[in-house]
Amino acid sequence: MSVEVMVPTALRGFTEGRASVATDGTTVGEVLHNLTTRYSSLRAHLYDKDGKLRNFVGIFLNNDDVRELQRDATPVKDGDVLLLIPAIAGGSPGAVAYPSLSKLRSTERELSHEQMRRYSRHLILPEVGLSGQRKLLDSSVLLVGAGGLGAPLALYLGAAGVGKIGLVDFDVVEPSNLQRQVLFSTSDVGKSKLDGAEARLRSLNPDIEVVKHNLRLEASNALSIIGDYDVVVDGTDNFPTRYLVNDAAIQSKVPSVYGSIYRFEGQVSLFGYKGGPCYRCIYPEPPPPGLVPSCAEGGVLGVLPGIVGSLQALEAIKVLLGKGDTLSGRLLLFDALGLKFRELKVRRNKECPVCGDSPTQKGLIDYQEFCGLREIPEDAEHEIEVEELKQRLEGPNPPVLLDVREPMEYEIVKIPGAKLIPLMKLPDRVHELSGAGEIVVYCHSGGRSATATRFLLEMGFQKVKNLRGGVDAWATRVDPRLPTY
Ligand SMILES: [Zn+2]
Repeated sequence: MSVEVMVPTALRGFTEGRASVATDGTTVGEVLHNLTTRYSSLRAHLYDKDGKLRNFVGIFLNNDDVRELQRDATPVKDGDVLLLIPAIAGGSPGAVAYPSLSKLRSTERELSHEQMRRYSRHLILPEVGLSGQRKLLDSSVLLVGAGGLGAPLALYLGAAGVGKIGLVDFDVVEPSNLQRQVLFSTSDVGKSKLDGAEARLRSLNPDIEVVKHNLRLEASNALSIIGDYDVVVDGTDNFPTRYLVNDAAIQSKVPSVYGSIYRFEGQVSLFGYKGGPCYRCIYPEPPPPGLVPSCAEGGVLGVLPGIVGSLQALEAIKVLLGKGDTLSGRLLLFDALGLKFRELKVRRNKECPVCGDSPTQKGLIDYQEFCGLREIPEDAEHEIEVEELKQRLEGPNPPVLLDVREPMEYEIVKIPGAKLIPLMKLPDRVHELSGAGEIVVYCHSGGRSATATRFLLEMGFQKVKNLRGGVDAWATRVDPRLPTY
């Protein structure tokens, strides 16, 4: 039997760049065994040390989750398609939030002549009409994160006349945001995202109320904030906030719209809606840090969050109107390079710790810890400042300088003399470092290199140091002629 295994972008580094691999086998387990025999470095990403399939990789046979079939023992036949769907997150960790207003306003509102004109294209749609527009004006949506996904979400929900839009964010607009975060202008750089978004939305539609939650969304405040809205949309695309929003939304009985992007791929779904599944039903646990690159590391095509965020806005509006077939129970996958949509069936897991028949998790947990993000060591012994590195490189025994970013980043800017081994390739190429006396590892800003430093120390290298602040700090403090990105 030959099965086509579809490999997502995040794992293609382990299959020589192939997007699909024809693989023999009579069961799902056999196919995966043969695949990971051929591409041995893929094995660690699919299976844990005990040979158990990892929780954060979904395996789907012709659009059905194999956990709903016979797992590894599920028989396959010629022409079947096996999909590997790892959890993805393109955003950087950290999100925000706070307070609240009353839920719904009065329902029998009159529309002014001005509003009739503004919403006329809605009013003449039988699926919306006057009653649908009233519903939208009386409804509320919480957007967590005003970034790449949050930008089209805020603009379309605001333009559609969703009466109250809550925004949770605490960042300022950076120059690198402008390539995709269309809510902001060049003149907004350096200003608070919330203020920029509020000004843009008010000028777009004076009908809507914008509530700024300038706080970090945390276990301590998420329930009270989310509980005040009709729908919550997660636009942060990072794991701690995704699990927090999911769990708090389920416990508050508020539907949540999920979206995620990575390079050229996107995912969208609707969770906790009319008995449908939640994110935890698909991915009970997050991947360990370092195994999934963020957008800053992996890059993202500017228009992709526009598409995924618009799909999220569409789902939110359908929920508010109570119209159409929603994405509840379906995980929509979008491949921008191939321009392909695909959808997978997802079901509520009776054993789900949050939305299952007898939930084991009551209340919220520490999501930074759950996602393994507390572990990043701040230990001075294994860190070095850029000024000290400069001295060492000019001295008699310079350390080996290891750059663990991607080749495209290396082309933009590098520290002279650095050897490039991208983080994901490090386990396969670690032998190239044998004999190195002392190693200094760097990346863009110090996150990936911290992971690489831990890995090298575990591999038995004695003297390994992480460059604090990465090549960004080097370009800022040591050689300002270099570009930053
Ligand atoms: Zn669930």
